[in-house]
Amino acid sequence: MHEMSLCESILQIMEEQAVQQNFTTVQSVRLEVGPLSGVEIEALRFGFEVVTRNTLADGCALEILETQAQAWCMECAELVEIKERYDACPKCGSHQLQVSCGDELRIKDMEVN
Ligand SMILES: [Zn+2]
Repeated sequence: MHEMSLCESILQIMEEQAVQQNFTTVQSVRLEVGPLSGVEIEALRFGFEVVTRNTLADGCALEILETQAQAWCMECAELVEIKERYDACPKCGSHQLQVSCGDELRIKDMEVN
């Protein structure tokens, strides 16, 4: 599952930050996950726990913030909210949508020591 490698990248970012900002442990982290990222939240939680075991983020609290996905509708000429990548526009039903956000997976912030 790709959640495992995502968690490894998150851990890598934490380790780099620890060197740069001079902290030794991560107490909690908040991740922003978009609905189009293809990430399964449960798998992400599980992967995070496994990957961070015996690292600077061992036992770290993980909070997942699910963000919204938006796309630009050519017909409406405005941003509309979508749930899935190939959704039609909720306003006019057009499929001429350009996804503008919702596929992100990023660290929003973290508490460190
Ligand atoms: Zn539309």
